[in-house]
Amino acid sequence: MTTLRDALADTGAPTFSFEFFPPKTEAGSRALWQTIRRVEAMSPTFVSVTYGAGGSFRDSTVETITRIATQTTLRPVAHLTAVGHSVAELRHIVGRYADAGVTDVLVLRGDPPGDPHGPWTPHPQGFTHAHELVTLIRELGGFSVGVAAFPERHPRSPDWESDIRYFVEKCRAGADYAITQMFFDVEDYLRLRDRLAAAGCDTPVIPEIMPATDARQIRRFAELSDARFPSALADRLEAARGNPEEGHRIGVEHGTRMARRLLDEGAPGLHYITLNRSTAALEIHRNIQQHTPPPPPTPTPAYTRSLHTV
Ligand code: FAD
Repeated sequence: MTTLRDALADTGAPTFSFEFFPPKTEAGSRALWQTIRRVEAMSPTFVSVTYGAGGSFRDSTVETITRIATQTTLRPVAHLTAVGHSVAELRHIVGRYADAGVTDVLVLRGDPPGDPHGPWTPHPQGFTHAHELVTLIRELGGFSVGVAAFPERHPRSPDWESDIRYFVEKCRAGADYAITQMFFDVEDYLRLRDRLAAAGCDTPVIPEIMPATDARQIRRFAELSDARFPSALADRLEAARGNPEEGHRIGVEHGTRMARRLLDEGAPGLHYITLNRSTAALEIHRNIQQHTPPPPPTPTPAYTRSLHTV
């Protein structure tokens, strides 16, 4: 069974992937599965499912990931946080994933339940920082491991120097790749990329694309995640309030422009937030595909050539 680590190393082309959240109701589950089937037809590199913040709907994450692994052709990446879990519980969850044939985990520390900006208290038998969970999963073996990266630095990091230092610590603990927090200005991603390069860190950092189609929604997400919502984009979306088609058009246009520039700048892939609906994210991705040249042909491996010449 190959892991995402192998897939990232193999592919000459940028990866593309989609993120879902665990459904909370039967109707939510039906809508999610319609989206999953549409996404499946596009053969993404992987899909990921978030882990309920602060303890909510965690079984739904495990069930959704298991079902994707067993009933679709998709590669599922399971988000897993340290929030409220002892090390023994974390081992148990990872064991359930291994039993279902899941080989890829996105490791996160998580935020305090209830108020993401509140004080962080680790479980007494748990972990304080994500790098410890990375180490555990690498010790268990058989998984590729992703981690979080923050183009505007993590809100709790006092300065860039410590933010980069601790990110590099996660990579040294065994992270194969990272996915960023949502951001709306490509320059923030490029500055992070350059800072990591200056620190000698070459872990691929996949930018996350959040289609910004609704000012109120994005403002709420930006508050929760401390992402900057640029005023020019906010103003355009505010002007479109009450006109969902226009909001959709603005979000797809902005997301497409960001995605194109990121690929032009050499980003290793694109990770789209879907909010369990596919329309805006899939539209951005179709726009990108129409303008992305096909990857160069894979050179014939030496051993195949020698088979043909003997
Ligand atoms: P860490 O890497 O532990 O960093 C947290 C803070 O501690 C940072 O300021 C860091 O610099 C600092 N730090 C790290 N190591 C040390 C150290 N050794 N000593 C001192 N300080 C240190 N949350 C969920 O609940 N569920 C999800 O599914 C989920 N998915 C996400 C997906 C992505 C792509 C991203 C970017 C975030 C996601 N989050 C999710 C949110 C995430 O859990 C929070 O942003 C959390 O605050 C940080 O997690 P982390 O893994 O980066 O933590």
